Amino acid sequence: MIIVSETPDLQKRLATVRKSGRKIGFVPTMGALHEGHLALIRACRKEKLFCVVSIFVNPTQFGPTEDYRKYPRNLKKDAKLAEKAGADLIFTPTAEQIYPTGYRTFVEVEKLSKRLCGKYRPGHFRGVTTVVLKFFNLIQPDNAYFGWKDAQQLIIIKKMAQDLNLPMEIIGVPTVREPDGLALSSRNVYLSPAERKSAPVLYQTLLQIKNDCEKRGKSLEKTLKAASSRLKKNPLIKLQYLEAVDLNTLEPPENTGNEILVAIAAFLGSTRLIDNIFLKV
Ligand code: AMP
Repeated sequence: MIIVSETPDLQKRLATVRKSGRKIGFVPTMGALHEGHLALIRACRKEKLFCVVSIFVNPTQFGPTEDYRKYPRNLKKDAKLAEKAGADLIFTPTAEQIYPTGYRTFVEVEKLSKRLCGKYRPGHFRGVTTVVLKFFNLIQPDNAYFGWKDAQQLIIIKKMAQDLNLPMEIIGVPTVREPDGLALSSRNVYLSPAERKSAPVLYQTLLQIKNDCEKRGKSLEKTLKAASSRLKKNPLIKLQYLEAVDLNTLEPPENTGNEILVAIAAFLGSTRLIDNIFLKV
């Protein structure tokens, strides 16, 4: 496996791969790799693509009060994990290389980027789509892999690819969880022991909503209300939102038969966790 930090070097190496007839798969990450990220790398390897993993803590997707500076960074450990999972190349540019002085161009997927997390993290998805599009241009992958853990991000990137005619396939990979149901996240390391113990309640709540609506025929609206008020009584959890939306538009679901996404965001102490589940009602 090769580690590359300069873009001309990256492009030279990828040109050689392409010349050999091999397709290129791309897994964008911010590092602090865990089994969730490794599932994306394995999905890429399974399809026998040359697997490029980016490790870049993207400053433009963090708000001024968010954890850009303290975000966990450990390239040595990440490189070992990525290699073991089958990565062929790690691309780890500096922020100055991606956003040189005088950088002015941003990409935004309207409407979708303002829903769910977008309401609480202004500019976040604008930062994500901008850096992902820049990486797509640099790497020109055949496939790009994203986790359903960040469902809104995946839906926005699929829309960007469709709207801008990007010549690649965007592939969603199911969420990887701890045995107790907590979705793996690089931010789980911030949780205190008591917060870690409470954290699975987010996924348990989603499962209960799914079960109540799909199996017991309960009203989605009432079930969501009941779940929110239960969570609001939990002293360790500060619920930001618990919402059901149309999986394609992220707008309130209508009776179209489209799949529904139930998404949750909550603070445990100062750590913000998100999760989601699909529903068919
Ligand atoms: P991040 O490093 O948090 O920006 O995540 C990089 C990629 O890994 C994104 O596509 C995430 O959706 C994906 N990812 C993060 N956690 C998980 C997880 N628990 N299961 C599946 N994919 C994940």
